[in-house]
Amino acid sequence: MSNETPARNIPLTRPLMGESEAEAARRPIISGWVTQGPEVAAFEQEFAAYAGAEHACAVSSCTTALHLALLAVGVQPGDEVITVSHSYIATANSIRYCGAEPVFVDITADTGNINPTLIEAAVSPRTQAVLTVHQMGMPCDMAAILDVTQRHNLPVIEDAACAIGSTIHWQGEWQTIGRPLGDIACFSFHPRKVISTGDGGMLTTNNAQYDAQFRLLRQHGMSVSDRVRHGTQQVVFEEHAVLGYNYRMTDIQAAVGREQLKRLPDIVATRRRLTARYQELLADVPGLFLPLDPEWARTNWQSFWVRLPEWSDQRAVMQAMLDRGIATRRGIMNAHREQPYQRAGGYNLPISEYAQDRHIILPLYPQMSVEEQDYVCEALRVACRA
Ligand SMILES: *Cc1c(COP(=O)(O)O)cnc(C)c1O
Repeated sequence: MSNETPARNIPLTRPLMGESEAEAARRPIISGWVTQGPEVAAFEQEFAAYAGAEHACAVSSCTTALHLALLAVGVQPGDEVITVSHSYIATANSIRYCGAEPVFVDITADTGNINPTLIEAAVSPRTQAVLTVHQMGMPCDMAAILDVTQRHNLPVIEDAACAIGSTIHWQGEWQTIGRPLGDIACFSFHPRKVISTGDGGMLTTNNAQYDAQFRLLRQHGMSVSDRVRHGTQQVVFEEHAVLGYNYRMTDIQAAVGREQLKRLPDIVATRRRLTARYQELLADVPGLFLPLDPEWARTNWQSFWVRLPEWSDQRAVMQAMLDRGIATRRGIMNAHREQPYQRAGGYNLPISEYAQDRHIILPLYPQMSVEEQDYVCEALRVACRA
């Protein structure tokens, strides 16, 4: 008998896809209509129904969705948009794409989400919108956020890149993120998220004018959509009255997305079950902080993070885990620490910085076995002791 331990390779995450997605991708390939056609239209309808929104518009990514959402609510060069630095850099970048400046607000330590009590002080005459993030799938405190924004008459965009399948208790019932509670919600289908189309994004809104804007801008500002032109019996000449973009989703992506949407309830249930198990197995690790759902939300746990004990070194813990074949990531980044956002005088965002420096994200994916999870917990327990 060999006493060598078998080599492990536990990834941070892995999309759950199979034959049904491969089969679905065949449809547009064989039909010959491969972009922004019938599969995209069907995916949009199914997504809108899932989210409980009146409109859903598919685009090429969440980053491009955020750009179109900001343009739709009227963000222009010289404006300010209140948001968090503690997010993937795409959140802040989408504001810069409009020629506007992000105004960063700090987070609350136990949620990783915007601290609503700090929003009011960030409002200025140049503020045009609030872009709030449901970080790692955990819904942010929309009631407290809307309380401020309604007083100042500011539109709210929800960066729900990670939050598909999360729910929030709202006006007496559980509602899916994406209804939306603000004016527009934006989703991502990057493989790091809960469901994937390779790349891809979606905007949801109950405002028909916003939806019309998204559709115009995602296709070069062209006045006639492909589907309309394709279906007509009369010759039509299109116009391009505004500056648009190519932010289209392909039908191959949409066909895959429709299958992913069917799997979503099971994926979320599995992620929540695995998270409950993490919380149980790690509860007694000295000094380790574990995040919990707020009473009024059920997170899809797109990522499960922990705050390390005061005495442990983040890089050393992550290296010890990697030495045992376990991938982890440090806490969510802060845009203000990256070169494009650095400024004289710096920023005062201590909780955001603390979260990046003291959190680590643990492996979590629907295919994860109980045995793999036990192994991760054991490795973390040892690493935290060292
Ligand atoms: C992943 C992510 C994005 C970017 O999504 P893409 O689809 O890759 O463009 C934006 N915001 C947040 C919070 C994210 O996690």
